[in-house]
Amino acid sequence: MLGEDFHKTDIESSLKTKMPALGIDLGGTKLSAAIVCDGRLLTQPIQVPTPLGSDSIVKAIFKVLSDFRQEHLIAGVGIATAGIVKVDTGEVIGSTGNIPGWEGTPIRTLIEHQTMLPAYVENDANSSAYGEFSAGNLRDKKCLVVVTLGTGIGVGIVLDGKLYHGPNWVAGECGHLKVAMDNHRLCTCGLFDCWEAYGSGRGLLATANELLSTVKPGQSELSDHGQDLSTRAIIAAAKRGDIIAQRSMNLWHEHLCAGMVSIAHTLDPDCFVLTGGMAQFVDYPLLRELMSDRCLPRIAEKLEIRESVLGKDGGMIGVAQLVLDDIATRV
Ligand SMILES: [Zn+2]
Repeated sequence: MLGEDFHKTDIESSLKTKMPALGIDLGGTKLSAAIVCDGRLLTQPIQVPTPLGSDSIVKAIFKVLSDFRQEHLIAGVGIATAGIVKVDTGEVIGSTGNIPGWEGTPIRTLIEHQTMLPAYVENDANSSAYGEFSAGNLRDKKCLVVVTLGTGIGVGIVLDGKLYHGPNWVAGECGHLKVAMDNHRLCTCGLFDCWEAYGSGRGLLATANELLSTVKPGQSELSDHGQDLSTRAIIAAAKRGDIIAQRSMNLWHEHLCAGMVSIAHTLDPDCFVLTGGMAQFVDYPLLRELMSDRCLPRIAEKLEIRESVLGKDGGMIGVAQLVLDDIATRV
């Protein structure tokens, strides 16, 4: 017969793992939050603008947390944030141009001391990766690579069920893989020819502008947009058959493939998941074909490439699941 202690621990464990957590996704322009349990949102996400400066952001997080706690019993709080995060202490240690003044904030300690709730802080791309792994039916994958395609490119790597961080917490900064050798495009990081200078939404825009500079006005409908050209305008024009827009989209797929080929040969992943605002515009059959052409056959043969099932909720779901899984290991 099992002892009383076992029962107590067992009940505590199941109560804690079945309780929901609050997932917060802190981006450069907005903060989103929702209650999460078993890999899905239990509430509609709320959104507030990201205030300026560390103190104001911390205040906004406490306000959101306090509002949710009035309605819900939660086991912990997860915060997905831009920037480099020292996950063992929950500090933001790497600067992010998106959130000025945020670097150096010990957000986990602040939350745990003030609320007595367990907190977990993780980089946003890593949080999305853990979301896809835990809630996207991919827990059986030995090596999962999640690529967040937006204005830039972020990557999260889940190896043997755990996020891989590296000794300096910078693993997965694949947006800065070098994909060309001619010092042609300057990246926001200060280096030339990074993957995200080509394969992101910003990269697609740069490619279209370069192609436009080689044609006469009137040869492409994109010329009419001038300085206001957007990725959406390129995608729409490509669908209407505009040759410059179509060529830009084809090159964007080549550029996207270039970084993924390097990652595939380094990690031999079972599966890539593409998420972020630009993932919906990927022609998946074309990308799979390009990857098959450019990867060693043994890598390409079984490699899966999928679109995210969680979309923009992946960061909130992933980081909430991280705090819940962390609590389960503490019991
Ligand atoms: Zn770069």
